[in-house]
Amino acid sequence: MLKASSALAPCLPDLPHDSPFQLVVDPHKGVKAVAARTLKAGELILTEAPLFILNDDLSEPTVAAVVSSLSLDEQAVFYALANSLPELGRHRGRVETNAFALTNDYGTDAGVSLLPLSSRFNHSCRPNICRTWDDAAQCERLVACEAVAAGVELCISYGTLFKPRIQRLSILQKKYRFTCACPACAVPPAESLQSDLRRCTIGHVGTALSSLKHDPIALIELAKQGLSLLEAEGLAIGRSRLAHRAYRAAVVAGDKQASIAWAQKFLEVNAREEGIEASEYRRVQAAVDQPERDREFGKRPVASKLPLP
Ligand SMILES: [Zn+2]
Repeated sequence: MLKASSALAPCLPDLPHDSPFQLVVDPHKGVKAVAARTLKAGELILTEAPLFILNDDLSEPTVAAVVSSLSLDEQAVFYALANSLPELGRHRGRVETNAFALTNDYGTDAGVSLLPLSSRFNHSCRPNICRTWDDAAQCERLVACEAVAAGVELCISYGTLFKPRIQRLSILQKKYRFTCACPACAVPPAESLQSDLRRCTIGHVGTALSSLKHDPIALIELAKQGLSLLEAEGLAIGRSRLAHRAYRAAVVAGDKQASIAWAQKFLEVNAREEGIEASEYRRVQAAVDQPERDREFGKRPVASKLPLP
């Protein structure tokens, strides 16, 4: 992950000659990933199995023990990672700087992992790469969530997207020791206020959806509002989650027309966000025309028609 630049040239891993991205040394960022060629929205650029996975204990002795159990080559990969928090120790500091939470939008929370290649991608508050944990395949997937021209930097989110600018800057500085200068953070103050409002509302929408399980009409209206705000903010990330929640609400309510329409909406946004090879994409695609065969169909029936996308 992004760190203060070092006088020493970083040790970069070898990538295949046809890799869709390259890692290059940057005088300000240390290392950055750039598109090796034009990338299409929804294009899978990397699948990576973790070097290791940790659950709740991230203490220095625990991480040191895990690292010492790796092969010498794997240990070299680990020690080549940035450590922006050396005061936490040479092992824990690297984990805190580089670890990814293994979560996805469909209920998986599998701890944190060390992904040496993925962690070379820098952060942007308007990322062009979406990362997601594929629980079935036990790997992290990085997908271009918009079209990217050759040579453009590829950025992921370090998890601060739906907070106001000042809070994002503070979290990123404290946790990763850099001042974010991404396009979303560099907008003029008046525009920044509008952006803050949209992002905070999207964050609240995400939280509020969980409390609307028994009111599918309100849930779907809120998901639609969130989708409009993401569109206005130019963010591809987050759309799959909202469309998926609306889809599941329609299934549980037993509304076939809305179930099909929201499944199609999910497939449309998910193809860009996570790519058509993603497990959930394939699951929904296989069931799109026959929601009544879903075991939750009509579990909490609703008499009125649900809102469509
Ligand atoms: Zn930023």
